[in-house]
Amino acid sequence: MTDTSGNKKVSVIGLGEMGAALARVLLANGFIVTGWNRSADKAERLKSQGLHIRATVLKTVAASSVVIACVSDYPTLTGLLHGDDVTCAMSGKTLIQLTTRTPAEARSGAAWAEAANVACLEGAIQAYPVHIGTAEGSILYSGARATFDAVRPILDTLTGQVVHVGEQVGSAAALDLALAGTVVPGATMAFLQGAAICKAEGAPLDTFLAMIESSVIPGLLLSTLRASVPMIESRSYGYLGDGAPLDAWVPGLQMTLQAALDAGINPRWNEFILEHLERAVADGHGQGELAAIFEQLRQPAT
Ligand code: NAP
Repeated sequence: MTDTSGNKKVSVIGLGEMGAALARVLLANGFIVTGWNRSADKAERLKSQGLHIRATVLKTVAASSVVIACVSDYPTLTGLLHGDDVTCAMSGKTLIQLTTRTPAEARSGAAWAEAANVACLEGAIQAYPVHIGTAEGSILYSGARATFDAVRPILDTLTGQVVHVGEQVGSAAALDLALAGTVVPGATMAFLQGAAICKAEGAPLDTFLAMIESSVIPGLLLSTLRASVPMIESRSYGYLGDGAPLDAWVPGLQMTLQAALDAGINPRWNEFILEHLERAVADGHGQGELAAIFEQLRQPAT
């Protein structure tokens, strides 16, 4: 483990929109920051704020015991860090990896780090560059707790919300993709599909939104999600008795699909939901809770 207590030197690989925001907030908080970017002009923009610019990744890594990496994707990251010379220079250092990637890529990066004697934290940024260095900014980290604790002063500088989500190295990426790549666009698409049905039938969209705001989210939706977590964990989906079992949802979802078809809009969203619900019923969950559909979703597509 690198001892980073009192160490104010940090290197940043990648000074695009996000990397520059990270470097900027570290500089503003008294860190000695060395940076590299493929396009030199982006590094030059931070020179007046005190950035020490290096011409190569190797020289940048050599300047600090803590290295932050934030480039466009994982193949780019491995191309920059996993070569023999940089791998050798990283030995004994700490890598705070902030490039967005899949859980499998995070595990692959952790395997490289372990073989290279690099203490590695995998971070998932839940913020726009403008939120870096503010209370709204949030980054999830997975990896060894000792590594997280050792670099905590740096992490606290980057965002107001700093969350260690566990030592399973893929957890930060999984939570990030589950939220930003699944729930947010999925819920938005559900809203848009509903809006398409309303619009085709002349129903008022402001009323649709008001219904969601006042009753669906605080009532039906949140209570369903809260009840689902222990059911998924126990894989037990028995009807709780205060809503509607799967059997009771089927006719409504069939009618919703029919409404989409009648309105001449794309029915695939409704077909997807109905198909999984009907499969859960066929699997014997007709008198169970909606959460039983999890058993369909966790299987590979047929
Ligand atoms: P960006 O502004 O497009 O910057 C991308 C960075 O990757 C630049 O430094 C770019 O260098 C570098 N890069 C791309 N291909 C390269 C290559 N072949 N070799 C060397 N460097 C290469 O993107 P960003 O917004 O900073 O995003 C960086 C990471 O943060 C991404 O993984 C993104 O998902 C994540 N993130 C971003 C946001 C956001 O709101 N921006 C939010 C959460 C997470 P050049 O400048 O030379 O092109």
